[in-house]
Amino acid sequence: MITNASLADRARRVMPGGVSHELRYRTPHPSYIARALGAEKWDVEGKRYIDFKLGAASQLLGNSCPQVIEAVAGQLTRTPYTGDCHALEIEWAEWIHRLMPSADLVRFTGSGTESTMLALRLGRAYSGRDKVLRIDGHFHGWHDMLLKGAKPGFEGAPSLGVPQAIADLTVIAPSSLNAVADLLADDQIGTIFVEASGANYGSVPLPDGFLQGIRDLATQTDKVLIFDEVITGFRWSPGGRQARDGVLPDLTTLAKIVTGGLPGGAICGKAEIMELLDPGKPRGGFAPPVSHKGTFNAAPLVAAGAIAAMELLSTGEVQAQADAMAARLRDGINRCFESRQISALAYGDSSTCHLYFGGRSIDGLSAAEIRTVPAPLVNGLRNGLLERGVDFMSFTSCVTSSAHTPELVDEAIEIFDETLADLVM
Ligand code: PLP
Repeated sequence: MITNASLADRARRVMPGGVSHELRYRTPHPSYIARALGAEKWDVEGKRYIDFKLGAASQLLGNSCPQVIEAVAGQLTRTPYTGDCHALEIEWAEWIHRLMPSADLVRFTGSGTESTMLALRLGRAYSGRDKVLRIDGHFHGWHDMLLKGAKPGFEGAPSLGVPQAIADLTVIAPSSLNAVADLLADDQIGTIFVEASGANYGSVPLPDGFLQGIRDLATQTDKVLIFDEVITGFRWSPGGRQARDGVLPDLTTLAKIVTGGLPGGAICGKAEIMELLDPGKPRGGFAPPVSHKGTFNAAPLVAAGAIAAMELLSTGEVQAQADAMAARLRDGINRCFESRQISALAYGDSSTCHLYFGGRSIDGLSAAEIRTVPAPLVNGLRNGLLERGVDFMSFTSCVTSSAHTPELVDEAIEIFDETLADLVM
């Protein structure tokens, strides 16, 4: 019989740690998911989970969205991929252009990490300066250039294998406009990166007015401002955080939802910067001025699913449902904390829910303070929830989808309460 444990044994023999992503590693072993639908999923042993991980926040429409699957299946019968231009990529780019206020032009990529790599290359090329300012704790993928600073409060080497010379080009700022303004005095900084939600999809929210403030600073100091909307794009509103707040970056990085939850990504932004990717407009001896390739960029299979998703995401109803379910979850969890007299907080913007175990407020706390959580409690909570059939994504953060119902959310809250009861006994 296939069990999670037997699969883990096999996996460890052929994959480092048995996993394809370091955050999927669990002891004694992960659960191997066989099937997912809406806000639920089932592992190979038939165990069911209420899902708040949702494809690492990519499945805003719920798991296995029928319209996306139908579009992908239809395209599969025509061709999954040939490496040529095709009409679907145009329709997909037109959707992004319509929905994202700053999207004059769009270029598709292979993932969120590739999107931030490309956006940074464009920022450097356009500004002519190599240093990048990024905000403490914000995550922009796993590549060398933006890994330093992803761990809040930590300025050291982010990983073995990242050259010091590359890390030295990254300047880390706290999410304070005064601090950013001081650091931007460095002339060698040409590009600014901000996760539009604040760090870790909003577990460390941006101070009020931060996006407008950093927009103004970028304009005054002549830097390329990049919003990383890999999480917030199409989630915070059909046009992402930039549409909701009315603050426009120069470039935007997208992935996860922009692809309808399929592999891939995109960047979009101001024509005069994006045109550096145009092979028909050579500059400085380079054609195109900024090089970008990628075998599977805008693969037709993904484009078909993405277009189906864009249609569903364009009205705002999906976001309203997901937001309402997250608010219900946060309220329910806060009631559990109160009734059990635990000094903790569930909070979050849009369709997210984050937990803080250091008190009933996160006001004025730094990224490092918010994210420093008592390990025994959160480990116990995560494992207890998983054992009882709730996947809360990470130890302290999760998302909802439009497929969540009040009944499923209430069931999850009940399980949360039972798990807490065990932990505080
Ligand atoms: N940017 C943000 C804000 C993310 O949350 C992520 C992934 O979680 C990325 C970039 C990287 O995307 P990917 O995992 O597709 O490479």
